[in-house]
Amino acid sequence: MTDDGAAVVAAVDAVAERIEAERDHLTRLDSAIGDADHGGNMARGWAEAADAARDLNDPDAETVAKTVGKTLMAEVGGAAGPLFGGSLVFAAGELDEGVTPETAVAFAETYLEKVEDRGDARVGDQTMVDALTPAVHTFKKSIEVDDVEPIEALAKAVDAAERGVAFTVPIRARKGRASYLGWRSVGHQDPGATSALIILEELLAVAAERLDVDVPETDAASPTIPDDDPEEASDDPAAASEDD
Ligand code: ADP
Ligand code: MG
Repeated sequence: MTDDGAAVVAAVDAVAERIEAERDHLTRLDSAIGDADHGGNMARGWAEAADAARDLNDPDAETVAKTVGKTLMAEVGGAAGPLFGGSLVFAAGELDEGVTPETAVAFAETYLEKVEDRGDARVGDQTMVDALTPAVHTFKKSIEVDDVEPIEALAKAVDAAERGVAFTVPIRARKGRASYLGWRSVGHQDPGATSALIILEELLAVAAERLDVDVPETDAASPTIPDDDPEEASDDPAAASEDD
């Protein structure tokens, strides 16, 4: 098995185990604003996906990702199956040359685009997009602009996703089953955004383990505070609008 293939299999295993551990938590979240199936759906789907990944013979990263995506599509059901799984099948192609910082960014961007295409949700609709968007944007910026180590970029992405999950609480659902509740969806944490965070946390844990490093400490506030570029930090509105 390629190293990358083995790393992706290990990540899928870790996600499956963690989702199983969070099954009741995810079910509780989905009972409040949905139909209480998210924990069971995800636990079943990821368990099957981990089995399917383990059964592959000497796979590369793309093959593992594709297999997991197909299995999630078939087994998770609901809104989350096609969104998490179908997007993975599609984005897997970005890993055809293995997992590098560049392919990981391309994968993350394609994945998010596909989730948006399929679900037609954007930030602020109280869905998984609220966790995925800040995670993907932060990851890309950390790699391409700030040039930080990939593991640190991933840690920052997890922080961003965590704040994205918190952001789902005070807003109103506009997509998916929770949107049927209208204003009653306000005050509830989105289950799919929570799953997205859990998945990212496990990717980070497995990456750190395989690199044999500690999970980097991140300054949780950093991505939302302007960096020390004097133009960006300026409170002169004319200077700020030049960037738009
Ligand atoms: P269902 O809503 O069909 O019961 P799940 O309970 O498994 O499916 O998944 C619900 C989650 O799916 C929501 O918490 C939300 O994050 C996500 N979701 C639902 N609809 C959409 C959409 N149109 N775009 C993005 N995410 C969505
Ligand atoms: Mg549901």
